[in-house]
Amino acid sequence: MTIEPGFPLAASAIAQEERYGAANYLPLPVVLVRGEGVHLWDEDGRRLLDMMSAYSAVSFGHGHPKLVAALIDQARRLAVTSRAFHTDRLGPFLARLCRLTGMDQALPMNTGAEAVETALKAARKWGHTVKGIADGQAEVIVARGNFAGRTTTIVGFSSEPQYRRGFGPFAPGFVSVDYGDPQALEAAITPNTCAFLVEPVQGEAGIVVPPAGYLKAVREICTRRGVLLICDEVQTGLGRTGRVLACQHEGVRPDGLTLGKALGGGLLPVSAFLASAEVMAVFQPGDHGSTFGGSPLAAAVGEAALQVLVEEKLPERAAAMGEALLGKLRALARPAITEVRGKGLLIGVEIDPAFASARQVCEALLREGVLSKDTHGTVVRFAPPLTIEPRHLDEAVAALDRALRSLA
Ligand code: PLP
Repeated sequence: MTIEPGFPLAASAIAQEERYGAANYLPLPVVLVRGEGVHLWDEDGRRLLDMMSAYSAVSFGHGHPKLVAALIDQARRLAVTSRAFHTDRLGPFLARLCRLTGMDQALPMNTGAEAVETALKAARKWGHTVKGIADGQAEVIVARGNFAGRTTTIVGFSSEPQYRRGFGPFAPGFVSVDYGDPQALEAAITPNTCAFLVEPVQGEAGIVVPPAGYLKAVREICTRRGVLLICDEVQTGLGRTGRVLACQHEGVRPDGLTLGKALGGGLLPVSAFLASAEVMAVFQPGDHGSTFGGSPLAAAVGEAALQVLVEEKLPERAAAMGEALLGKLRALARPAITEVRGKGLLIGVEIDPAFASARQVCEALLREGVLSKDTHGTVVRFAPPLTIEPRHLDEAVAALDRALRSLA
């Protein structure tokens, strides 16, 4: 590919992205300029209903006034100090986060992938120092279909060929088992197994809900076999599935937990690894860190986000709105839709590939004023802000109906 040097600075935003940016995304053909609540506006002033909420990061809606106020207020006062010093914001944030999730301690990072990397380091070091696994021999079991981010370690245990192709060599020490099958986990455990890393609902895999009782069974196996259960709730956590944590649907308390996305209030990248005190005790000063992780700005916004989550009863809202949306989508009963599945406001609509690709459906939805995103070719994701109201659900379902008709 030749790239001409004199490309005009004033060309369209899409043309500039394509000329000066890497092609690692294939965005829908829309240029967004403003957001408020469940709506986004494009550069022509057209209002669109956001049924994707930045892959579940914008659970509170765009520009939530309390979160924006917390951001601006803290940015004016003190934004970034590094963890070389204490600040007045980090302690209260961590305390609220631990109280809300029932975990003992938290380690703040920025992106979801960093929270997962932190979990992997904690698990391996726990395996070595507490369980007695030889240094460098610890194994982590993961579920096929997992998505935990894009670092080289994480894509190394992905089962999606495209995420791995050309990016090796990968870190050893990962074993994959089928998702939703507790026996497969049990069979894969060896004396070197330190942890099982699992999403309570697989998001990027296409909103895959495991059989009822799966997480409870997995908890029992991990406890009995001396293996840490680490739930990756970067996408499912903080109300998305109708509970504060998705693992609470089965009364499960994991040994380690990753949160991200919505933790930043839809404004900043804020993530955390949370754990029991025993697991977190593996970290000594100098073992791990992040320049921006736990900054006063991140902590202030994260704390405000947790406050809004509780005040606005967003997990309860997600449960009620999710059930309503699942019902409405199922009632559409169009042959192009082969399955509607999900939990709370994390819903996947499986499209018959003989009818259209999920991408084509998302493009048609955009024409009908609704933003969504395909995943894995055949699934249209509906994961709107948890603040969504019943009338918006009706709008989204009517738009899907029109979109499917337009493609027929
Ligand atoms: N874990 C899960 C379950 C996710 O869904 C994601 C992102 O979609 C991640 C981790 C990675 O988060 P990030 O993109 O912020 O690195």
